[in-house]
Amino acid sequence: MSAQTILASDLFKKCLDFHGHLCPGLSLGYQAAVAGMEWLSARRAEDEEVVAIVETDACGCDAIQVVTGCTFGKGNFIYRDYGKTAFTFFNRKTGQGVRVARKAEQQDPIDPEHRQLLAKIRQGTATDLERSLVRAKHEKASKRILDLRPYELFTISEITVPAPEKARIEPSLNCAVCGEPTMSTKMVEKDGQSICRGCLG
Ligand SMILES: [Zn+2]
Ligand SMILES: [Zn+2]
Repeated sequence: MSAQTILASDLFKKCLDFHGHLCPGLSLGYQAAVAGMEWLSARRAEDEEVVAIVETDACGCDAIQVVTGCTFGKGNFIYRDYGKTAFTFFNRKTGQGVRVARKAEQQDPIDPEHRQLLAKIRQGTATDLERSLVRAKHEKASKRILDLRPYELFTISEITVPAPEKARIEPSLNCAVCGEPTMSTKMVEKDGQSICRGCLG
Protein backbone atom coordinates (compact mmCIF):
# COMPACT_ATOMS: atom_id res chain seq x y z
CA MET A 1 0.00 0.00 0.00
CA SER A 2 1.12 3.54 -0.67
CA ALA A 3 1.25 6.32 1.90
CA GLN A 4 -1.60 8.01 0.08
CA THR A 5 -3.86 4.94 0.39
CA ILE A 6 -2.98 4.44 4.04
CA LEU A 7 -3.53 8.12 4.93
CA ALA A 8 -6.99 7.96 3.33
CA SER A 9 -7.98 4.71 5.09
CA ASP A 10 -10.47 4.60 7.96
CA LEU A 11 -8.08 2.63 10.14
CA PHE A 12 -5.30 5.19 9.84
CA LYS A 13 -7.77 8.03 10.44
CA LYS A 14 -8.83 6.32 13.67
CA CYS A 15 -5.17 6.21 14.73
CA LEU A 16 -4.84 9.92 13.93
CA ASP A 17 -7.98 10.76 15.88
CA PHE A 18 -6.80 8.82 18.88
CA HIS A 19 -3.24 10.19 18.85
CA GLY A 20 -4.06 13.76 17.88
CA HIS A 21 -1.40 14.43 15.25
CA LEU A 22 0.37 12.89 12.29
CA CYS A 23 3.94 11.96 13.14
CA PRO A 24 6.62 9.42 12.16
CA GLY A 25 6.23 7.54 15.45
CA LEU A 26 2.52 6.97 14.88
CA SER A 27 3.27 5.87 11.31
CA LEU A 28 5.88 3.36 12.48
CA GLY A 29 3.46 2.01 15.08
CA TYR A 30 0.75 1.66 12.45
CA GLN A 31 3.04 -0.22 10.08
CA ALA A 32 4.28 -2.49 12.88
CA ALA A 33 0.78 -3.28 14.12
CA VAL A 34 -0.58 -4.05 10.65
CA ALA A 35 2.44 -6.26 9.89
CA GLY A 36 2.08 -8.07 13.22
CA MET A 37 -1.64 -8.65 12.84
CA GLU A 38 -1.19 -9.91 9.28
CA TRP A 39 1.57 -12.24 10.39
CA LEU A 40 -0.68 -13.66 13.11
CA SER A 41 -3.75 -13.61 10.85
CA ALA A 42 -5.46 -12.05 13.84
CA ARG A 43 -8.42 -9.77 14.01
CA ARG A 44 -8.77 -6.78 16.31
CA ALA A 45 -8.97 -7.91 19.94
CA GLU A 46 -12.43 -7.31 21.31
CA ASP A 47 -11.51 -9.18 24.41
CA GLU A 48 -8.10 -10.66 25.02
CA GLU A 49 -7.35 -12.85 22.05
CA VAL A 50 -4.44 -10.64 21.01
CA VAL A 51 -1.73 -9.45 23.35
CA ALA A 52 0.73 -6.66 22.56
CA ILE A 53 4.00 -5.98 24.34
CA VAL A 54 5.52 -2.58 23.57
CA GLU A 55 9.12 -1.69 24.36
CA THR A 56 8.59 2.07 24.15
CA ASP A 57 6.09 4.56 25.53
CA ALA A 58 6.32 6.84 22.48
CA CYS A 59 3.76 7.89 19.83
CA GLY A 60 3.72 4.51 18.05
CA CYS A 61 1.92 2.87 20.99
CA ASP A 62 -1.27 4.73 20.17
CA ALA A 63 -1.43 3.15 16.71
CA ILE A 64 -0.71 -0.25 18.27
CA GLN A 65 -3.75 0.13 20.55
CA VAL A 66 -6.09 1.22 17.78
CA VAL A 67 -5.00 -1.36 15.18
CA THR A 68 -4.77 -4.38 17.52
CA GLY A 69 -7.55 -3.45 19.94
CA CYS A 70 -5.14 -4.23 22.77
CA THR A 71 -5.50 -1.54 25.40
CA PHE A 72 -3.86 -0.66 28.67
CA GLY A 73 -7.18 -1.04 30.48
CA LYS A 74 -7.91 -4.54 29.21
CA GLY A 75 -4.54 -5.73 30.42
CA ASN A 76 -3.55 -7.08 27.00
CA PHE A 77 -1.27 -4.12 26.29
CA ILE A 78 1.96 -4.51 28.21
CA TYR A 79 4.66 -1.86 28.50
CA ARG A 80 8.32 -2.70 28.96
CA ASP A 81 10.57 0.32 29.44
CA TYR A 82 13.38 -0.66 27.04
CA GLY A 83 13.34 2.46 24.86
CA LYS A 84 13.11 0.48 21.61
CA THR A 85 10.73 0.79 18.69
CA ALA A 86 9.85 -2.87 19.02
CA PHE A 87 6.47 -4.53 19.42
CA THR A 88 5.56 -8.14 20.10
CA PHE A 89 2.15 -9.53 19.27
CA PHE A 90 0.59 -12.79 20.37
CA ASN A 91 -2.50 -14.56 19.16
CA ARG A 92 -3.87 -16.56 22.09
CA LYS A 93 -6.10 -18.59 19.80
CA THR A 94 -3.25 -20.02 17.72
CA GLY A 95 -0.51 -19.64 20.32
CA GLN A 96 1.67 -17.81 17.83
CA GLY A 97 3.81 -14.78 18.56
CA VAL A 98 5.81 -12.32 16.45
CA ARG A 99 8.22 -9.50 17.28
CA VAL A 100 8.41 -6.49 14.97
CA ALA A 101 11.49 -4.32 15.63
CA ARG A 102 12.83 -1.28 13.80
CA LYS A 103 15.87 -2.17 11.70
CA ALA A 104 19.16 -0.63 12.76
CA GLU A 105 19.93 0.42 9.19
CA GLN A 106 16.67 2.36 8.89
CA GLN A 107 17.41 6.07 9.04
CA ASP A 108 16.21 7.93 12.12
CA PRO A 109 12.81 9.37 11.13
CA ILE A 110 13.69 12.58 13.00
CA ASP A 111 16.64 14.52 11.51
CA PRO A 112 18.76 16.83 13.73
CA GLU A 113 16.93 20.00 12.67
CA HIS A 114 13.56 18.31 13.31
CA ARG A 115 14.79 17.27 16.77
CA GLN A 116 15.93 20.81 17.58
CA LEU A 117 12.55 22.20 16.61
CA LEU A 118 10.77 19.60 18.75
CA ALA A 119 12.92 20.65 21.70
CA LYS A 120 11.86 24.27 21.15
CA ILE A 121 8.19 23.22 21.15
CA ARG A 122 8.74 21.35 24.41
CA GLN A 123 10.36 24.41 25.97
CA GLY A 124 7.52 26.59 24.71
CA THR A 125 9.85 28.84 22.71
CA ALA A 126 8.87 27.78 19.16
CA THR A 127 7.42 30.43 16.84
CA ASP A 128 4.33 29.78 14.71
CA LEU A 129 6.61 29.38 11.71
CA GLU A 130 8.68 26.76 13.53
CA ARG A 131 5.53 24.91 14.57
CA SER A 132 4.32 24.70 11.00
CA LEU A 133 7.80 23.60 9.94
CA VAL A 134 7.56 20.71 12.40
CA ARG A 135 4.15 19.75 11.05
CA ALA A 136 5.60 19.69 7.52
CA LYS A 137 8.58 17.62 8.65
CA HIS A 138 6.27 15.24 10.55
CA GLU A 139 4.18 14.79 7.42
CA LYS A 140 7.15 14.21 5.15
CA ALA A 141 8.74 11.65 7.50
CA SER A 142 5.37 9.92 7.97
CA LYS A 143 4.81 9.59 4.24
CA ARG A 144 8.27 8.14 3.75
CA ILE A 145 7.54 5.51 6.42
CA LEU A 146 4.08 4.70 5.08
CA ASP A 147 5.47 4.25 1.56
CA LEU A 148 7.89 1.55 2.71
CA ARG A 149 7.00 -2.12 3.08
CA PRO A 150 7.03 -3.48 6.65
CA TYR A 151 9.97 -5.79 5.92
CA GLU A 152 11.98 -2.74 4.83
CA LEU A 153 11.28 -1.00 8.12
CA PHE A 154 11.37 -3.89 10.56
CA THR A 155 12.94 -7.18 11.44
CA ILE A 156 9.98 -9.51 11.83
CA SER A 157 10.68 -12.67 13.77
CA GLU A 158 8.65 -15.47 15.27
CA ILE A 159 8.53 -15.68 19.06
CA THR A 160 8.46 -19.11 20.64
CA VAL A 161 7.79 -18.20 24.27
CA PRO A 162 4.12 -18.30 25.27
CA ALA A 163 2.00 -15.17 25.66
CA PRO A 164 1.93 -13.57 29.12
CA GLU A 165 -0.85 -14.71 31.45
CA LYS A 166 -4.24 -13.05 31.30
CA ALA A 167 -4.87 -10.09 33.53
CA ARG A 168 -6.44 -11.11 36.82
CA ILE A 169 -8.98 -9.21 38.82
CA GLU A 170 -7.81 -9.25 42.41
CA PRO A 171 -9.89 -8.42 45.50
CA SER A 172 -9.20 -5.09 47.17
CA LEU A 173 -8.30 -4.31 50.78
CA ASN A 174 -8.42 -0.91 52.41
CA CYS A 175 -5.00 0.64 52.97
CA ALA A 176 -4.21 0.96 56.68
CA VAL A 177 -3.02 4.56 56.18
CA CYS A 178 -5.24 6.27 53.59
CA GLY A 179 -8.15 3.85 53.75
CA GLU A 180 -8.44 3.61 49.98
CA PRO A 181 -9.40 0.25 48.44
CA THR A 182 -6.25 -1.21 46.92
CA MET A 183 -5.59 -4.40 44.96
CA SER A 184 -4.33 -6.73 47.67
CA THR A 185 -1.45 -8.15 45.64
CA LYS A 186 -0.08 -4.62 45.10
CA MET A 187 0.07 -3.81 48.81
CA VAL A 188 3.14 -3.81 51.02
CA GLU A 189 3.37 -5.17 54.57
CA LYS A 190 4.70 -2.65 57.07
CA ASP A 191 4.62 -3.14 60.86
CA GLY A 192 2.06 -5.88 60.40
CA GLN A 193 -0.26 -3.68 58.34
CA SER A 194 -1.12 -3.67 54.66
CA ILE A 195 -0.22 -0.34 53.09
CA CYS A 196 -0.64 0.95 49.54
CA ARG A 197 2.46 1.94 47.60
CA GLY A 198 1.31 5.54 47.50
CA CYS A 199 1.41 5.75 51.29
CA LEU A 200 4.74 3.94 51.50
CA GLY A 201 6.22 7.13 50.00
ZN1 LIG B 1 3.13 11.68 17.79
ZN1 LIG C 1 -2.69 4.30 51.25
